[in-house]
Amino acid sequence: MWRIRSSIRRLPRAEAPPEVPARICLDKNESPFDLPHGLKKELFEKLSKIPLNRYPPVYPTELEGKIAGYLNLSPENVIVANGSDELIGLILKVFEGDHIVISSPTFGMYGFFAALEGIKVIDVPLGEGFELGDVEAHTDGARAVFICSPNNPTGNTHPKRRIIEVLETGAPVVLDEAYTEFAKESNIDLVKDYDNLIILRTFSKAFGLAGARLGYAVASEETMGYLRRVIPPFSVNSLSLKAGEFMFEHLDYVGHVIKYIIEERERLYREFKDYAYPSEANFLLMKLDAHDFLLKRGIAVKKLGGRLEGHIRVTVGRKEENDELIRNLREFINLTAD
Ligand SMILES: *Cc1c(COP(=O)(O)O)cnc(C)c1O
Repeated sequence: MWRIRSSIRRLPRAEAPPEVPARICLDKNESPFDLPHGLKKELFEKLSKIPLNRYPPVYPTELEGKIAGYLNLSPENVIVANGSDELIGLILKVFEGDHIVISSPTFGMYGFFAALEGIKVIDVPLGEGFELGDVEAHTDGARAVFICSPNNPTGNTHPKRRIIEVLETGAPVVLDEAYTEFAKESNIDLVKDYDNLIILRTFSKAFGLAGARLGYAVASEETMGYLRRVIPPFSVNSLSLKAGEFMFEHLDYVGHVIKYIIEERERLYREFKDYAYPSEANFLLMKLDAHDFLLKRGIAVKKLGGRLEGHIRVTVGRKEENDELIRNLREFINLTAD
């Protein structure tokens, strides 16, 4: 007789996609730009030369070398994976400890992978201004402490000195920098000083490759050695590896997109100053219960719950998409004003 593990039975099932996809998708923090036609053609010509009968290259891949060069580190400090989500799961396999520490509201995948491992999630909620609370009170016996900066879905970063305070406890700290390209400052420099730090990055947001499923972690050589022991061989396929390399050959284009998104983010923030929180990511948290209203008009945004009930998270889109968002949100505000 087969039986389902209780930790698995408790997980929610994936939701069915909407029957009519939204016209404007501002709900997943993706880049609003696919590669321009010329670049895409160039990439696909490179992809056409990849032998699909062969397994992908193994560590250190050319991509790991390029990432290391970009960060001024060694390939020994870098590991690529099938999305940074995969790395969250792998990290939880490496360390001892009976719980993880998160600071809600934050990214849902930390709790998801803890549930898969059957370990406890201790939540030290962010403060009034979304600042980190006393996570140090729970670092003893922690398998990992998750810090997301810029944080999804609030958009704020945590100060470096605060991150250092948590690192000083010696507990494994996973610093999720999925949105760092849109922020003023990164914490990658701390990898040199702290063996207990693992930084997660992704190609899904600023680099515009969400469909390729490509993420990476950065940590000390020693910590990386353990991650390399648990990662399934050939986790990243040859096509995605090549797509990642290609982006590093076109960093000027990536930089251009990042600048555009930041400018548009600030424009949206100015438009909705009374409702939006400042953001260092490619999205804005807004105190507007406009999810259903917008969806009826073909615009998908993320509806938030719990402590952020009545809030939405809006991904910064292309200019014309943002214009339409602004028009509709203005209408929503006028309708609901007393
Ligand atoms: C989008 C996102 C990721 C990226 O995950 P991938 O698996 O690389 O697509 C990681 N962390 C946070 C907080 C995110 O919002």
